Amino acid sequence: MTGSPAPFTADDHATRMRRAAEAAADAGLDGLLIAPGPDLVWLTGYRPVPTERLTLLVLRAGEDPDPVLVVPALEAPDAAEAAAAPVLTLRDWSDGNDPYETAAPLLGAGGRYGISDNAWAMHLLGLTKRLPGIRYTSLTESLPMLRAVKDAAELERLAAAGAAADAAYEEIRKVPFAGRRETDIAADLAELLRHFGHSQVDFTVVGSGPNGANPHHEAGDRVIEQGDMVVLDFGGLKYGYGSDTSRTVHVGEPTAEEQRVHDVVRAAQQAACAAVRPGIACQDVDRVAREYITDAGYGEYFIHRTGHGIGVTTHEPPYMVDGEDRTLVPGMCFSVEPGIYLPGRFGVRIEDIVTVTEEGMRSLNDTPRELAIVH
Ligand code: ZN
Ligand code: ZN
Ligand code: ZN
Repeated sequence: MTGSPAPFTADDHATRMRRAAEAAADAGLDGLLIAPGPDLVWLTGYRPVPTERLTLLVLRAGEDPDPVLVVPALEAPDAAEAAAAPVLTLRDWSDGNDPYETAAPLLGAGGRYGISDNAWAMHLLGLTKRLPGIRYTSLTESLPMLRAVKDAAELERLAAAGAAADAAYEEIRKVPFAGRRETDIAADLAELLRHFGHSQVDFTVVGSGPNGANPHHEAGDRVIEQGDMVVLDFGGLKYGYGSDTSRTVHVGEPTAEEQRVHDVVRAAQQAACAAVRPGIACQDVDRVAREYITDAGYGEYFIHRTGHGIGVTTHEPPYMVDGEDRTLVPGMCFSVEPGIYLPGRFGVRIEDIVTVTEEGMRSLNDTPRELAIVH
């Protein structure tokens, strides 16, 4: 693509706030309380640093969300610059005053409110003390799919982030691996993501040899050797939307077993991607990948869910996991990332971000999925 996408407008944000308020009413809530973090960014375009000073967006459930943003007075000028500022009311409070007193009249004495999962406990406790009659519930639990279905402008950003991550993978395959530390490759990956337009790098996993068998291993001092499998898993934000892709490479020629394990993961990943279409349950995407790996004899070594949603964060609903029986809807975006982890030996993971289309799915990552040989 050429140039950056057009910024989201106040209208875009008004639509999102209306959608959220309607979903809140459907969920039996009286309103939503949004703290600094991904929900606030998505709803308003405002991205303050979370602090001990209360910042809180209050939305009324129903057809008119009547959004009010409670902000510290010293941050009000920044808040007034937010994309959604024309369609919300700013209510500032000054140091020395009780911010919960400013927020309280917006809520009323009773009812049930969904609150951002990342709201700080001190703020929730402040509200609870001031408004003991209100019941609070997790926003993610009550509206898990609030941000899950992406519109065209969001998909454009996710595709751009995916293409940038792909470009980083194409480049990283050219750098020397043998004799360098995992952290060196991780630094290269971070630099490449930034070079290809990421404003934020969230993770750069480089799991070489036995470290690859730990899916949570990020990157350490281990020096990569000839004969190592190396799991690469990296992503971050570009234009405010996430990338997250994994490929597993091998330093020199792989053994027959390494190739076989990689073939199994690759086929499982392909089968799970092929299962993606509107109406299928999230857990069935997981099931397809898991059954393939189990049938190949490696079921006990596939130790995590198959995927997670992605949007203004790199991990969010919907989750492709056993027990998640909600169904896929066009516009949802998530990872498909089965893996096999052989303790003390090596790991393999292949991950693409896909989006659900009317007919099936479209992959937002498109680099070769074969076991690549690096040097
Ligand atoms: Zn090897
Ligand atoms: Zn990943
Ligand atoms: Zn992922």
